[in-house]
Amino acid sequence: MLNLFTEEHSNKTPIPLSDVSDEQVINELKALKEELIPKHLVLGHHYQSNEVIQFADETGDSLALAKKAANVDKPFITFCGVHFMAETADMLTGDDQQVILPDLNAGCSMADMANNEQVEKAWKFFADSTSKKITPITYINCTAELKAFVGSNGGAICTSSNAKKIIEWAFKQGQKLLFFPDQHLGRNTCFDMGVPLDEMVVYNPNMLNGGLTPEQVDKAKVILWYGYCSVHQGFTKAQVDQLKTDRPDVQVIVHPECSFDVVQASHDNGSTSYIIDKIQAAPAGSKFAVGTEINLVNRLADRYKDKEIFSLSPYQCLCTTMYRVRPRWLLASLLAIKEEKPINVIKVSKEIREPSLIALERMLSIS
Ligand code: SF4
Repeated sequence: MLNLFTEEHSNKTPIPLSDVSDEQVINELKALKEELIPKHLVLGHHYQSNEVIQFADETGDSLALAKKAANVDKPFITFCGVHFMAETADMLTGDDQQVILPDLNAGCSMADMANNEQVEKAWKFFADSTSKKITPITYINCTAELKAFVGSNGGAICTSSNAKKIIEWAFKQGQKLLFFPDQHLGRNTCFDMGVPLDEMVVYNPNMLNGGLTPEQVDKAKVILWYGYCSVHQGFTKAQVDQLKTDRPDVQVIVHPECSFDVVQASHDNGSTSYIIDKIQAAPAGSKFAVGTEINLVNRLADRYKDKEIFSLSPYQCLCTTMYRVRPRWLLASLLAIKEEKPINVIKVSKEIREPSLIALERMLSIS
């Protein structure tokens, strides 16, 4: 077994395993993972690479992994995903448990598009613009601070799997909805539920008053935040149209983080879990062009060799921040756990955790 743990690396930086070959990293991981079974569990998001996902005890999308984290009874949980997911897991686990993110730089470009200061500023502008009640809903892809904001203001969290149910709930709470940070999931879901496009406005935090007038805020049923996923926004309507022309035998299925035009042009759309279930249930010989992260698309193609499965885009639609979690950083995390000196532990403060949990538990009870 490698002994690379030193005090010098005991805090936030992954242990530099630069002299160790990739093959050695994988072999060490296999052995160490076995050894740590009594006290350690690995959660892996579907967008992780195969090299990492092979070590996951549980795989899933954001909602599934949040639910799994809440039921783990081991002291150490390594979360192979991005920062907001590890924060969510920390909030749902006990004080005696530690959630570890193998690389602290594994963030989410969408989550970075809304911060607390911006949302507080927008909220005040909305309060000054309308007397109607606004219910805030945040996509789970955001910082713990924003989850706390939502919990403190009568709102809830959603994922792409349960967005419709949460929005239905929100419309029963008040006349208006603020949905952040992903404009596309908000727009696609609300439109699907019968809200016309002209009753939705977009608040851009980089513009004065979000680029909106008080009258627009007062009139709108849904206020969307100007945020998006750089991976899913990469798919285009032109790609869908071209594929439908060239390959009429292929079904196009996309994630609702794709733009409205792409979702409308496609045959079907749904969350990561929905896409997986749909492909799994399809008969042999089915053909799918899939608009979501490439690691998942390639994994589905490998798993269902009796079906034709490929990416909607000819370009690499890789979530580069997810990809920061590499096997050697996972090994560094496990070596540190073995020494009982965990690195890259994600801890949400009590002040943020309590209101966030209100919003999270609301989501879990509704979905
Ligand atoms: S795929 Fe998009 S939304 Fe998901 S973690 Fe990556 S950047 Fe964030």
